[in-house]
Amino acid sequence: MSDVPRIGISSCLLGQRVRYDGAHKKNDYITESLGRYFEFVPFCPEVAIGMGVPRPPIKLVRVGSSVKARGVRDTELDVTEPLQDYAEKVAPKLAALSGYILKKDSPSCGMERVKVYGAHGVPRRDGAGIYAERLMQLAPHLPFEEEGRLMDPVLRENFVERVFVYHRWRSCITPRLTAKSLVEFHTRHKFSVLAHDEAVYRALGRLVAGSGKGALPTLAAQYIAKLMQGMRKPATRARTTNVLQHLFGFFKKKLDAEDKREMGEIIDNYRRGLVPLIVPVTMLRHYLRRFPDPYLSQQYFLAPHPDELMLRNQI
Ligand code: SF4
Repeated sequence: MSDVPRIGISSCLLGQRVRYDGAHKKNDYITESLGRYFEFVPFCPEVAIGMGVPRPPIKLVRVGSSVKARGVRDTELDVTEPLQDYAEKVAPKLAALSGYILKKDSPSCGMERVKVYGAHGVPRRDGAGIYAERLMQLAPHLPFEEEGRLMDPVLRENFVERVFVYHRWRSCITPRLTAKSLVEFHTRHKFSVLAHDEAVYRALGRLVAGSGKGALPTLAAQYIAKLMQGMRKPATRARTTNVLQHLFGFFKKKLDAEDKREMGEIIDNYRRGLVPLIVPVTMLRHYLRRFPDPYLSQQYFLAPHPDELMLRNQI
């Protein structure tokens, strides 16, 4: 399996001129920054179903209890089924991906809050693109995110962290998962999960404790479902502070009073929002170099994604 996570993406975000009007929606952060660490696999569902470029624009329309993708000008045009069928066709390719970035507001690719038009009045922003919605149903654990939400530092860090977790999981089960590799995977992600959701952290611990008993494929399916559910919940400052305190606990007996006071103050400054997460994490890594600990040095919480992305400098 490739070391570089492969990410599905709406083609227009890479600068491909595939939009209905022949334009693109190139996103420089995605192409210039994330592009250094991810390999992108572009999909344009509207072109793939033969609508061409340029093409008549479509919008979401509420019809009874369902939502359809119909022409803006030609109301007889209905591409709902072709878009859903194309998502089914793409589904087998998702097994080779570790994430997916969608174009916001699109009646095909939008992840959420897409305008849905009713018979009268203003549209409601409560829809999802027809292709995207089907795709997310077909791959419920794959990390999905929209390019607009990626501009939010917390959501951005959360997405990239999930991509790397899922990518490592895919490596772990390839060519085959063993009880030993599941325990090792879980052990290395403990503190990462704890920062997101303590209940999920405990549930995963119970699942892994039973890994010698039941059928491993069933257990693995439960494990990854629970893990990705927990990781979707953004890590709060309070939960992350709790993890930092846990990690600091490993060094307490080794540090003198002044170092302990300084580290305690740094964690507290992070808790109060005075310094970003990279500050206490850098200090913990520093102490880990001074006082090596094989258990701690394997924790992905201390290095969940490439430092060069600077994701923890802004949260
Ligand atoms: S939003 Fe989706 S359907 Fe529209 S141009 Fe971009 S990739 Fe194609």
